[in-house]
Amino acid sequence: MRKPLIAGNWKMHKTLAEARELVGAIVGGLGKLGITTDVELLICPPYTLLFPIAKALADTPVMFGAQNVHEQPQGAYTGEISVAMLADTGCTHVIVGHSERRHVFGEKNDRLAKKVRAVVEADLTPIYCVGETLEQRDAGQTRHLIESQISEVIGPDVPPERLILAYEPVWAIGTGKTATPQQAQEVHEWIRASLAGTYDRSTADAVRILYGGSVKPGNAADLLRCPDIDGALVGGACLVASDFLAIISAAAATVPA
Ligand code: PEP
Repeated sequence: MRKPLIAGNWKMHKTLAEARELVGAIVGGLGKLGITTDVELLICPPYTLLFPIAKALADTPVMFGAQNVHEQPQGAYTGEISVAMLADTGCTHVIVGHSERRHVFGEKNDRLAKKVRAVVEADLTPIYCVGETLEQRDAGQTRHLIESQISEVIGPDVPPERLILAYEPVWAIGTGKTATPQQAQEVHEWIRASLAGTYDRSTADAVRILYGGSVKPGNAADLLRCPDIDGALVGGACLVASDFLAIISAAAATVPA
């Protein structure tokens, strides 16, 4: 049984004061909803907020992670951050290969493969993002592209129990256009089949695959009910406590009593 994970990617949003307010509202809201262990929760704020967020989330069930990392352990890489620096903050997860890293910052699979391995070697959990652009979807390349994003980065040397994948169709991120549950489920099923090729069927069945792309309170329940969707990577809606809490509630409702 895969436990749902709801992860919020804050991107380049929130000052310290705003972050404290948002975390307070999320943690307060979780108490009222009575959600404790049925759903795993993760917040990925900007780097400057990692230490204060660690403090604010101490003694709560909410984990925190980073949005990116450099693949090298240290060195002359102005403006970058290493896995050891992230580990110092107490964070547990690192998003790798978000579509904005791929398409705005030009990160390619060979570099992302190094990042995934650096994260795993530091005993942190990568959330590795894959997904196609609209042109690639329209050209019928979705399956081939996603299989290559996975197979070029994830290999038998990456422990599957430490791996989380996120399917994020680029055309659905921050656009308000969501993949239908059928479209998302179809891709998640392929991803699991691809993992079964890399590892084996039962291992593939244990890996969590999140969906991301304009997940909102109004569409979360239908997406999260799909058999191969194991949670959500949420952008815009995680910046509003009531929306994030509603998505968490939708995930909790999928867990059998
Ligand atoms: C994301 O940033 O990973 C994301 C899915 O954003 P949004 O929910 O805003 O589409």
